[in-house]
Amino acid sequence: MTDESQNRPLLSERQQSAGSCADPLVRGGGYQGQREIPPFDGGDGAETGIVSGVPQRSGAQVGGGWKDQFADSPDVLKETPDQKTVVWAGNVAIGGDAFVTMAGPCSVETERQLMETAERVVAAGARVLRGGAFKPRRSPYAFQGLGLDGLKLLASARAATGLAVVTEVMAASDAPLVAEYADILQIGSRSMENYALLEAAAKTGRPILLKRGMVATVADLLRSAQCVVSYGNPNVILCERGIRTFETSTRNTFDVCGLVVMKEVSRLPVIADPSHAAGRRSLIPALARSAVAAGADGQIVEVHPHPDQAWSDGEQSLTFAEFDTMMADLAPWCELRAACNYAMETVA
Ligand code: PEP
Ligand code: MN
Repeated sequence: MTDESQNRPLLSERQQSAGSCADPLVRGGGYQGQREIPPFDGGDGAETGIVSGVPQRSGAQVGGGWKDQFADSPDVLKETPDQKTVVWAGNVAIGGDAFVTMAGPCSVETERQLMETAERVVAAGARVLRGGAFKPRRSPYAFQGLGLDGLKLLASARAATGLAVVTEVMAASDAPLVAEYADILQIGSRSMENYALLEAAAKTGRPILLKRGMVATVADLLRSAQCVVSYGNPNVILCERGIRTFETSTRNTFDVCGLVVMKEVSRLPVIADPSHAAGRRSLIPALARSAVAAGADGQIVEVHPHPDQAWSDGEQSLTFAEFDTMMADLAPWCELRAACNYAMETVA
């Protein structure tokens, strides 16, 4: 059999006449008569021959510094690389040395559902109980939460287990009531830029768990955090809960890069919400590992005794057994994180 490729010319005639390099995109190659692209001189274009009415500058001079985009949030930015705020919720330190897990159902449904969940998550190592009494939902027809009855159940679960409680406040007028029952007030993704709500929540004096809006940039999130701090409440916890992108295989896109940016520029604790990012329970343990590895200070995870019967977000809620396994599997990652933090502190 004849091997035709042996007879085929490797370069076209035009390429052959151009010189030694066949790829016109490779610097120094090109067609005959084409001169090599000179390095950018960062200046006035005189040497490059580039003709522009606008004075040309080097990359570092264009667009200002990278951190300028956070300039509206001075009180939440680090002044020194190792500056950090530790937020206390009851006896739980968030932003300290330990990776803190907050866990519980999406919504508070019944006393039994909440108590069973609280007892299981505390046994597996959670420090904070989550559960919505006021629920923002994708549909106006969906369950909107038990309201005050839900808050009372959360307070009973705290008394029974010693867990601190985090729950969402949706209306400025509800802030004082929610603060009576909760250790941390959650501002949901849909409310991140509701400045009247941020003011009311801040003024209760409770720590604020500020979830990133689903179409908010890191700079937007920090501006909302700055708003809370400006109302006299320095105890803000940032939460990366996934953002909207063109991806449809997950409910949102978990922005681990954004989480790292928050950790780098802000002194506030940063936690991850793998549940609302993924939207599917099978993905949650891997996202939780990535959050630990990225330097998050904690996570907030949905857990339900019977996820298939949950009144909200069942498809992304872990069973008790899945939560136990995730927490056990996460332990060595948390140990590594603690060792790395220690190493970083001693290097500095
Ligand atoms: C929730 O925590 O149940 C919730 C509704 O979260 P998000 O505001 O991030 O959607
Ligand atoms: Mn939910």
